[in-house]
Amino acid sequence: MESFEELLEKSTAIHGHICAGQVIGVRLAMLGLAHIGIDQPRGRDRKKFYVLVEIDRCATDAIQTVTGCSLGKRSLKWLDYGIMAATFVNLEDGRAVRITAREESRELADLYCPEIEDKYRRQLEAYRIMPDHQLFIIQPVKVKVPPEDMPGRPLRRVQCAECGDWVQDGREENRDGRLLCRPCANGRYYEIIA
Ligand SMILES: [Zn+2]
Ligand SMILES: [Zn+2]
Repeated sequence: MESFEELLEKSTAIHGHICAGQVIGVRLAMLGLAHIGIDQPRGRDRKKFYVLVEIDRCATDAIQTVTGCSLGKRSLKWLDYGIMAATFVNLEDGRAVRITAREESRELADLYCPEIEDKYRRQLEAYRIMPDHQLFIIQPVKVKVPPEDMPGRPLRRVQCAECGDWVQDGREENRDGRLLCRPCANGRYYEIIA
């Protein structure tokens, strides 16, 4: 794998700015991959693992850059928990680890780089050098990846009995024998304007 500095440069270019989230995200992803034995995430190991992210913030872009995983390739799954954590799953041997960024590291940053006045710059520099155990909680976990979440062709396509939209990958819901899309079953995020 490339070095931390090389990966940080890459993620900063893709994300659009350097920020504490890029430093945290690059370190978190490198650590996660190491724990599940993935050495060439964008090369020969690219189909051997899967990543779940629990937040859609800066660090998520860094995780995407380092791992090469993406929503479109179905190698990345986003769970809208608002938690700065990600789980790395080795699809071959089942090894998995969930890594959470510690909230306390914000305060600890003051001890590492007290000479930097700006709080955000101080955090950014401190996060480069703080040891893993001060930055992260590392939990070995077990993850069931359902077949309908795996990369590859959709397992099935179903037409919603209510609105007619086609639903892939088993995301339809059965309401008294009628197969509905999730918006028709549970309510939608948009309103159609006539
Ligand atoms: Zn950012
Ligand atoms: Zn529908």
